[in-house]
Amino acid sequence: MNCFRFAPILLLAAASALAQAPAAPGTSKPTAPAVAKSFDLTAIDKTADPCTDFYQYACGNWVKSNPIPADQVRWMRSFSLVSERNRYLLWQQLDSAASNPKSALEKQYGDYFGACMNTGLVEQKGLKPLEPAFKRIDALKDAHKLATLIGELAAEGSPTSLFNFGIEQDEKDSSKQIAGIGQGGLSLPDRDYYLVDSKHFQEIRQQYVEHVTKMFTLAGDTPEQAAKEATAVMEIETALAKASMARVDLRDPAKVYHIYTVTDFQKLTPDFDYSFYFSAVKVRPFETLNVATPDFFKGLNDLIAKEPIDAWKSYFRWRTLHGSASNLPKAFFDENFGFFGKTLAGQKEPTPRWKQCTSMTDHALGEAVGQDWVKLHFPPAAKASMDQLVAALEKSLGDDIKTLPWMTDATKKAAEEKLGMIRNKIGYPEKWRDYSALKVERGDLIGNLNRSAVFERAWELDHLGKPVDEKEWGMTPPTVNAYYDPSMNDINFPAGILQPPFFDFTADPAVNFGGIGVVIGHEMTHGFDDEGSQFDGKGNLREWQTPDDRKAFTERTDCLANEYGSFDAAPAKGETPAQKLNGKLTLGENTADNGGLRIAYMALLDTLATQGKAIHDKIDGYTEAQRYFLGFAQVWCENRTEEVARQSALTDAHSPGRWRVNGSVQNFDEFGKAFGCAKGQPMVPVNSCRVW
Ligand SMILES: [Zn+2]
Repeated sequence: MNCFRFAPILLLAAASALAQAPAAPGTSKPTAPAVAKSFDLTAIDKTADPCTDFYQYACGNWVKSNPIPADQVRWMRSFSLVSERNRYLLWQQLDSAASNPKSALEKQYGDYFGACMNTGLVEQKGLKPLEPAFKRIDALKDAHKLATLIGELAAEGSPTSLFNFGIEQDEKDSSKQIAGIGQGGLSLPDRDYYLVDSKHFQEIRQQYVEHVTKMFTLAGDTPEQAAKEATAVMEIETALAKASMARVDLRDPAKVYHIYTVTDFQKLTPDFDYSFYFSAVKVRPFETLNVATPDFFKGLNDLIAKEPIDAWKSYFRWRTLHGSASNLPKAFFDENFGFFGKTLAGQKEPTPRWKQCTSMTDHALGEAVGQDWVKLHFPPAAKASMDQLVAALEKSLGDDIKTLPWMTDATKKAAEEKLGMIRNKIGYPEKWRDYSALKVERGDLIGNLNRSAVFERAWELDHLGKPVDEKEWGMTPPTVNAYYDPSMNDINFPAGILQPPFFDFTADPAVNFGGIGVVIGHEMTHGFDDEGSQFDGKGNLREWQTPDDRKAFTERTDCLANEYGSFDAAPAKGETPAQKLNGKLTLGENTADNGGLRIAYMALLDTLATQGKAIHDKIDGYTEAQRYFLGFAQVWCENRTEEVARQSALTDAHSPGRWRVNGSVQNFDEFGKAFGCAKGQPMVPVNSCRVW
């Protein structure tokens, strides 16, 4: 629900953003996953040449011997193992709270989890929980009343909106929290799925229409009626896709900043009366708002004027069914999994129910389950060590800025100022959110989901006009990820990622700097990538580079965009050609990876010097420098389904593991030196790119 409250730049795409992974009503028993090793000699493929393909060398054996589990679409040596383990530990906590709660908080999240696990009751209730929404949709008589309908559905927590509305920091005055509205309403992963004219996407569109048809038939419609409704859904979603802004443009802060008065915004869309919607979701009155994607709202208005009322009813009925599909009876569940899990993502088996319910509870009550989770799994000493590591990385980025070959002194000074203003958040919030107003009922799964959606929105809308609270978090404590927020100018590391193989008290510094060190460096560098560099230290969209420096900066980011744009994101298959990585979509992440690798290496050198060690000292047959690069690469060992490779190429701002490794090392001279490579070998190209 936090569409706008936080606009974080993640370390890794969130699993839910990548592919729907519905859960089976099955009863498979959870087992404790192993702790991931920080540095894994058995992962290495010694038949590969590190100077030719370092990813293959560092990860080859792991990739070969770790096929994707049937309930996953992507399997990563670090992120997946730690996430699965965190989820298992969280499940233990939830399962115990569901059967024997020891506090009011445990009772609340235990009931939330317990309601989700009760698939017998889900089966028994059938579509009953959706009836209030269906009734409202049925009663729609006039397309001009769409705003009222959407408002009423939103007020009840129904997952159906045509757009995203929330509160955000004003890009140009980050101390202000303002209303913001942007595009939405699509069911497929990206606008390209509706618009690209290739055999591959034509097939997917055909399968999608068949899926929508089946869902309507399951809901009781005749096949003819269902087919007609599915055609209407496809027509509306295609029109919304055409009006939507492309992902590459959404990354450009200037392109998503358009302050309108409410009156002018209303003039843009005369056929949709937003005042009904705003009053239904109970937002306090406001005079101006940011319209991220004005063209989308113009397109939406044309569509409202044009589409017959029955088409709109079909669309909202579909969105209601689709939004709840994972939590409906098995027939709906299976049909939903068949298309969104199998066909779109290549997932062989549904995610076990306990995993899905654990994630759902973490999503809804993250800071409730999180406060108990960190007591059990996050030692205070971990925070102290992280503070030291972050300080070491800050110093290195400062040194890096001072010695940058292409930047003038004036801009260097401004960059150092911004660096000095980055705030660090480590582990978990100092103050936990209060969930006491969220009513949870043990026998009402969909009701809980809807009430949680309403609760989250009320929490978000309450920020309007209030001062920014720097202590709020955009991720729950068990999450294995990290983020930088350009408006806050802060870096955030949840407790979930602060463990092996990212961070290991017992490992040597080379391995820790290659793991969590690069992660910290990555997040800091986001403050200076093509997007983050447009914001100043206070989080305001304001140029702080001189025109010449900005030009030099852009030449360097263009180099990275071209380099990564030449990599294959998905292999050719049959008539479908190989899909290239989108160098512009992934530019911010690639810049952050490259910067992170360089500054964490500098921090390692500093640390080794204070310990009286040399970079050439060997452990297990590898020098400190080699261990650093191997530790870094082994964070990214992965397998992904071909379907996910294709989907991610369009939707994921992060490069696949292979290119996060090879792309980064081939731009950093110290790598070639560490492995004795000759200039001109693939990992040491004659022309490499460097931004930071
Ligand atoms: Zn990132």
